[in-house]
Amino acid sequence: MRITGVSAYRIELPLHEGSYKWSGGNSVEVFDSTVVGIHSDAGISGYGEICPLGPAYLPAYAAGARTGIAEVAPHLLGMDPTELQVMNRRMDQVLRGHPYVKSALDMACWDLLGKASGQPVAVLLGGRYGDDFPLYRAISQDAPDEMADKVGLYRSQGYTKFQLKVGGNPDTDIARIHAAAAKLKTGDVLIADANTGWTQHQAIRVADAVRDVDVYLEQPCLHYEECLAVRQHSNRPFVLDEVIDDVHMVLRGYADRAMDVINLKISKVGGLTKARQIRDLCVSLGIAMTIEDTWGGDIITAAIAHLAHSTPPELLLSATDFNSYVTVSIAEGAPQRTNGRLTSSTGPGLGIQPRMDVLGEPVLRIGMA
Ligand code: MG
Repeated sequence: MRITGVSAYRIELPLHEGSYKWSGGNSVEVFDSTVVGIHSDAGISGYGEICPLGPAYLPAYAAGARTGIAEVAPHLLGMDPTELQVMNRRMDQVLRGHPYVKSALDMACWDLLGKASGQPVAVLLGGRYGDDFPLYRAISQDAPDEMADKVGLYRSQGYTKFQLKVGGNPDTDIARIHAAAAKLKTGDVLIADANTGWTQHQAIRVADAVRDVDVYLEQPCLHYEECLAVRQHSNRPFVLDEVIDDVHMVLRGYADRAMDVINLKISKVGGLTKARQIRDLCVSLGIAMTIEDTWGGDIITAAIAHLAHSTPPELLLSATDFNSYVTVSIAEGAPQRTNGRLTSSTGPGLGIQPRMDVLGEPVLRIGMA
């Protein structure tokens, strides 16, 4: 099979709740997502998606994704899209860094491999564990009582794992964590995600104030060394997210005992191929994972489902169903949350069919696309 063309589409994904707020005064109202199609001489196409969490979360932004795809895609024409490692090596040779640019291209190749082989991506990633897997719900930054009330609302939708967006004023954040923890029931999991928003001394104050609260602390500070100092001071389970962007950082964090859990986002590490490598390494090392992406619609939710479902359950803390947060459906066949849990498609590839009427005209065509 050879790649004959690459197309890209821009799609806006508004939020059901109007906006999503996290540390540093950051918020997004409408997500800017990009869908990539990779077309082959076998007459089948694969699809992938990249949706940064705005331009201020990671070194990634939506227009940059499209510019990067236009840069990389011409170098992929004529290659066999089912040879994932060869494809990734080529992408890394023609564009250094920019992992998020390569994520949708890699995801589309996995979709093609699955369609060509008649296998779901979850099977190609190692096989399914059980019928389904748990999801977490992010609780947008708000007043402590408002955030605590969301625990009950989201539990009524089936969720049992709740991620509070903190990383603001530490006194307010301490109140947020206590208010939300008071609403927990047995079996619930609470994660306080600062998204790099605290300085080290602020984070240590918060860690001290929640020593007796059943809460995980996630990515308190911007730099790895600051997070490590907080980790060494805290007695709470500890999650690293933003600083874990490749396999080297996983190994460094493991050597330092810097975390109990990582948040593995597909586009942060450059696609499913590299996410699988990190996932498998974490399984061997005993590091648990939340598996997700920066944001996305139906295609990214499908990709998350395949990676999460093929992860041993004891090391999968949770995953995310981004397609339930947004008002627009971009593909048929995407997994839908049931009682706070998700299952991956059993159809070939990602198991989705893009809604071409929703995607509209491509913003990019390379080769015979
Ligand atoms: Mg996080």
